[in-house]
Amino acid sequence: MDLCSREAKPLLSITAALERIKAAIHPVSETEKVALANALGRVLAASVYSPINTPHDRNAAMDGYAFYSTDIIPGQPFTLNLVGTSWAGRPFQGQLHAGQCIRIFTGAVVPPAADSVIMQEQVQADGHNIHFPAHAASGKNIREIGEDIKQGGLLLTHPKKLTAIDLGLLASAGIAELTVKRPLKVAFFSTGDELTALGQPLESGKIYDSNRYLLSGLLADPNYQITDLGVIADNKQLLEECVVAAAKQHDVIISTGGASVGDADYVKEILEHCGEIDFWKIAIKPGKPLAFGKIGDCYFFGLPGNPVAVVVTFQHIIAPALKQLSGAPTSTPLQLTATCTTALKKSPGRQDYQRGLLTQDTDGEFFVASSGRQGSNILSSMSRANCYIILATECAGIVPGDKVRVQLIQNTEIV
Ligand code: AMP
Ligand code: MG
Repeated sequence: MDLCSREAKPLLSITAALERIKAAIHPVSETEKVALANALGRVLAASVYSPINTPHDRNAAMDGYAFYSTDIIPGQPFTLNLVGTSWAGRPFQGQLHAGQCIRIFTGAVVPPAADSVIMQEQVQADGHNIHFPAHAASGKNIREIGEDIKQGGLLLTHPKKLTAIDLGLLASAGIAELTVKRPLKVAFFSTGDELTALGQPLESGKIYDSNRYLLSGLLADPNYQITDLGVIADNKQLLEECVVAAAKQHDVIISTGGASVGDADYVKEILEHCGEIDFWKIAIKPGKPLAFGKIGDCYFFGLPGNPVAVVVTFQHIIAPALKQLSGAPTSTPLQLTATCTTALKKSPGRQDYQRGLLTQDTDGEFFVASSGRQGSNILSSMSRANCYIILATECAGIVPGDKVRVQLIQNTEIV
């Protein structure tokens, strides 16, 4: 129920909006090959199997001496004759016989005739005589062939957004090239006669264009090739020409501003004319108006003009949609429960994404406070914030001590 709005049409919940978008989006199917060194963050398009065993050889897990456990005299110290060394990368070339041992270093090949490695700290070396203690352990400190990954075994399952760890894993199996999804071509533009380019003096009534800088940062991802289409004036013909041309060359267009119902808000009129676009009023704050649909094969997202509304709608609606389109697996962001230390104003009717500062005390308890004024034009409190405080639609305000839901803003740390 929409308790506070004076809208004729009920607002759409964010869950319903996300479901509609999810149902409309078809992930890209084209793939390309990339070198492992360029694969960080890309979406794996085919599962990867290991061409080799890892480890490839039986090798020592520590620096010490390799020997055969039949030389152990139960309950007694014993002495073995040192006959050589196995270095990492330079295996021992000789034969190991009963009564003998070799010096061995971490990662070095263990000779087939040895089944045990003892730590160097546990023996006494006296020239070629190596004195072993009573109760020397057998069968220890050896990494077996294929104990990490067997030859032909599954290394990574697609689809997966490749992490630094994945690159290390693939390199350990000798994989130099991968099949990944092709990147998305994403264009964006701002609309509004009030927008002034950086470097120009600011005349009365004008503002600098924040949104294209926000968007280029929010879209920084190896799966997105971005095109900044600049500022397009509130001019119907210009807007239409620009949108139609961009739709032919991109997978996605994102616009900011001009999507509400002001006299100069032409986005709606143009899109209704050249594509199939829905105009929604979403029950979130900030960020109520949102246009979504297609112009030919290109997806279109029309975001509100206010910069904080751009960030909130991007992070909660556009980012998951782009992720799905790029072929990456979808995921649900982690939410925490924290005790709110400040009062938060809220009217029932929309789900609020208030900007907060999350902290953790020495007992591990989470606390959150407002990061400042919450107007949808106020970027300074967004810049200070490390989390969103998510207040449910029906919530009518928070008093200090209330428990609230918190979602970390990507790439931030708890302060
Ligand atoms: P609109 O959706 O065009 O009515 O814009 C809503 C508010 O957001 C207005 O105060 C605009 O001046 C502001 N706004 C629109 N576009 C931008 C932009 N690119 N950068 C900063 N503020 C903007
Ligand atoms: Mg405008």
